[in-house]
Amino acid sequence: NLPPIDGDFYNLSLKLTERQREIQLKVRHFMEKEVKPIANEYWNKAEFPFEIIPKMAELDICGIAYEGIGPDEQSFLMEGIIAMELARVDVSISTFFGVHSGLAMGSIYVCGSEEQKQEWLPKMQRMEKIGAFGLTEPDVGSAVAGGLGTTCRQEGDEWVLNGQKKWIGNATFADVIIIWARDEESDRVKGFLVRKGNPGFKAEKMENKMALRTVQNALITMKDCRVPESDRLQKCESFKDTAQVLKMTRAAVAWQAVGCARGAYESALKYTKKREQFGRPIASFQLIQNHLVEMVSNLTAMQTLCFRLSELQDEDLLTDEHASLAKVFCSMRTRDVVSRAREVMGGNGILLEHDVARFVADAEAIYSYEGTKEINSLIVGRAITGYSAFVS
Ligand code: FAD
Repeated sequence: NLPPIDGDFYNLSLKLTERQREIQLKVRHFMEKEVKPIANEYWNKAEFPFEIIPKMAELDICGIAYEGIGPDEQSFLMEGIIAMELARVDVSISTFFGVHSGLAMGSIYVCGSEEQKQEWLPKMQRMEKIGAFGLTEPDVGSAVAGGLGTTCRQEGDEWVLNGQKKWIGNATFADVIIIWARDEESDRVKGFLVRKGNPGFKAEKMENKMALRTVQNALITMKDCRVPESDRLQKCESFKDTAQVLKMTRAAVAWQAVGCARGAYESALKYTKKREQFGRPIASFQLIQNHLVEMVSNLTAMQTLCFRLSELQDEDLLTDEHASLAKVFCSMRTRDVVSRAREVMGGNGILLEHDVARFVADAEAIYSYEGTKEINSLIVGRAITGYSAFVS
């Protein structure tokens, strides 16, 4: 009994269980009612709509894939569908959610001790506490695996953190920030739960972004930032553990790209049916139809690929290269879809009030974060050739 969904050409939603459809529609209703009316305004102001957090909490969708943490429907497919539904209306809100529920909660879920999980995950699941994830640095983006400049040093029962992190979403207001740092002694990467208000920790909002303007990204500076041993992620031994978190969240970013493309396609389709030129709706012109068909083809391919990706994840068969392939393919195809959506809207395509301009800009951030197109391609390239092109 789903309403007609323009961007789901092969009716993939019919493959969902009743419960999964219910959650999908609940999220869609929330986004249409609470976020759509304010999305452009906040994006333009580059501010975050904090008032939506309690309403979002009521959806009960955080950590939905994590065993024993999320609500009844514990699947990565559901997590992917949620990422798509959020991004279909506002990629910024989807990113805020992905950083909190995916990267931050995911780090604690994968790398935390039982005590750490018990302390943080239930409160984060209810969105009473918000998380951030600090891996990237001003001088180290793609090369984080071996090149973190942020260091940690053990002094008795404490760790001392020094260094900077750049681009860290939610970090201006988060209650807990996962910080990844290189141990001065062993050279291995360790993860830390840095609590809001730590005197050695400063987060400054990054200004003048041309994409995801609603997301509050921060430049973090840590100067002798002291963290107790009990707040070191107890199950993180090296960057391999950080990579486990990234594999999991990269799959959700592929779904986010689907949502971005879908929002742009649906807006553009509606527009072309309404807009008349030469006495006819522009949707009746062959060249416009060609654009629309290219868009829906890409969208259908992306959704189908992501469906299988999530099935692999739910079957515990997901590899790094599976997640990377989906991220590369979807972020490339999304760029194509949003640019065609903009094109069929003529001049109105660059006006924020028609939504598509925001999707065009936000697609650029999806393209580059959680591993750029090149880095994710190299991960797939290494898997299929046996040669690593990363090292010199
Ligand atoms: P660089 O690594 O400097 O890369 C520049 C270019 O060189 C890219 O095209 C890249 O693909 C290419 N390149 C690099 N190495 C190679 C190679 N070996 N072969 C071929 N090409 C190569 N990080 C966090 O930790 N937490 C967050 O919450 C977070 N949020 C973000 C939000 C936004 C909006 C953005 C834009 C970024 C965010 N990031 C976050 C950081 C993001 O993950 C990095 O931007 C990304 O990993 C790329 O790093 P970089 O920007 O430093 O680019």
